[in-house]
Amino acid sequence: MSDALDTAVPSAGTAAGTAGPLDLLVVGCGAGGLATAVSFAENAPGSRVLVLERSSRYDRGGNTTWTGSFFRFAADGAPADDFESRLHELSEGQSDTDHIKTLSLNAAPAVRWLAEHHGVEFETRPTYFVTARGPRLMPACGGAGLVDQLAKSPERLGGSIAYGVRATSLSTDALGAVNGVEVREGGRLRHIAARRTVLACGGGFRGNPDLLGRHMKATGRGLSPIAPGGKHTVGLVPPKSNWAVELDTGPFMAWPVHCAITFTHGGLRTDARSRVLTPAGTPIDGLYAVGETAGLSYSRCPGATSVLRALTFGRFAGAEIAQVTASAG
Ligand SMILES: Cc1cc2nc3c(=O)[nH]c(=O)nc-3n(C[C@H](O)[C@H](O)[C@H](O)COP(=O)(O)OP(=O)(O)OC[C@H]3O[C@@H](n4cnc5c(N)ncnc54)[C@H](O)[C@@H]3O)c2cc1C
Repeated sequence: MSDALDTAVPSAGTAAGTAGPLDLLVVGCGAGGLATAVSFAENAPGSRVLVLERSSRYDRGGNTTWTGSFFRFAADGAPADDFESRLHELSEGQSDTDHIKTLSLNAAPAVRWLAEHHGVEFETRPTYFVTARGPRLMPACGGAGLVDQLAKSPERLGGSIAYGVRATSLSTDALGAVNGVEVREGGRLRHIAARRTVLACGGGFRGNPDLLGRHMKATGRGLSPIAPGGKHTVGLVPPKSNWAVELDTGPFMAWPVHCAITFTHGGLRTDARSRVLTPAGTPIDGLYAVGETAGLSYSRCPGATSVLRALTFGRFAGAEIAQVTASAG
């Protein structure tokens, strides 16, 4: 049982359980969820904010934890020159122009915010990618360090994180506004009421072969077996022309390597304020999405933009929701 959940949302019927809905409920404790919760708590002091994380504290942080968290920044700490153009180009023109512009303009301020207000240290390191790119900015200790550092802030600012609690569905009121989530915690099911909910729970379908087959472009087909006689690059389709070299001089070393999908594309459609939209383009009252849950990329996505996107839009969404909460009274 999560003490944080019981403290933040006392069961109805108890003396403490009369506090009403949370001001903000965030689902997911990765870069996107944490940035949202911290930004909201900062901008709406005294409000009630809770982050739900399905994993244990030890396993928290989703994909963010497993990344180097490289940022596509130039040496001067601003987005690389090709930041916007590569997002457009690799999405084959399908990514939303407003989102790309918002990301590019607000990425550097988000990184400064983390460094100056939340103790995240950054450094510039060579990447491990098989591309000819130069060093990139990243949090010291990578994504795991980012999560550890950022997870300190919600509690410092009066919010909390409940581990081992899985959101299973959204609840709505009679007008269709989202008013909380159903959760499973161990064997227990319960409803958590919230004025606003942010989905920052990753998502994607890399574990679903059927959806992968339908939505991901097939790659690597038609690769011929390596030709005999050391002609490793001859006759391959597509031609291996970028990094292929003959292996003819020792010493040789070998590492086991296997392929994995970093993330799949698509997601919930949002506007640049991170409000989730209906298929008709109308914002759904009370519902926001950030990070991988929100659909920005299509087809392909330039490296070192995804954690940055989660942080930038998370920070934005937190401030936006604080403002909406204040004006709603
Ligand atoms: C190996 C690897 C390397 C990468 N390298 C980079 C890089 O260098 N730069 C870069 O920009 N991007 C990189 N990426 C992509 C990047 O890590 C992700 O896109 C980004 O971290 C997503 O952040 P997020 O907050 O949206 O989701 P996540 O970090 O995945 O967080 C989602 C959280 O939600 C929780 N959750 C899920 N469902 C529920 C539920 N129902 N209820 C409660 N909690 C739930 C999860 O447990 C998780 O903690 C890499 C990805 C991988 C796998």
